Amino acid sequence: MKHIDEQQWNAWLAERQDRDSLLNSHLLSCEVCRAEGKRLRTMVADFSKAAHSEAAQDESFWSRQRAQTLQRVDEHKSSSWSLRWRWAVPVPIAVLSVVVALVLMKNPTPKVIPVQSSDASDEALLLQVQYDMYRKVPSALEPAGLLVQERNRVLTSKKTQAK
Ligand SMILES: [Zn+2]
Repeated sequence: MKHIDEQQWNAWLAERQDRDSLLNSHLLSCEVCRAEGKRLRTMVADFSKAAHSEAAQDESFWSRQRAQTLQRVDEHKSSSWSLRWRWAVPVPIAVLSVVVALVLMKNPTPKVIPVQSSDASDEALLLQVQYDMYRKVPSALEPAGLLVQERNRVLTSKKTQAK
């Protein structure tokens, strides 16, 4: 009798061997095919084990990936939020620095109390700007920044006109 062929092995591995008594009787009598059958069974078992662990790995991989994505989204959210505030805070401060610089440039000795009416009103405006900033921080920092910018523009044009 011929050894077990591929098709028969497939049937055997799929556990349909019971229908084939001829195959079973061959396995009992043929040591070569018995060894081959054992090898194939082990191979199939190993393969299914590997496939299962791969699937399990996939599961953890995807859940890890999901967690990382969510974390990244959170980071993005918080970074865009802090970026907004990071810019919202220095902009009015930078504007204020420009205002201070302009005032100081006009008054080379800053300790001298400005007596000129335009400087006094500038000073008052500056104080008003500062007041607005502290009063509005942090709930409406961006409108305050715009307000400061607008005032700075008015102040600058006023200074240019004064010269
Ligand atoms: Zn055989």
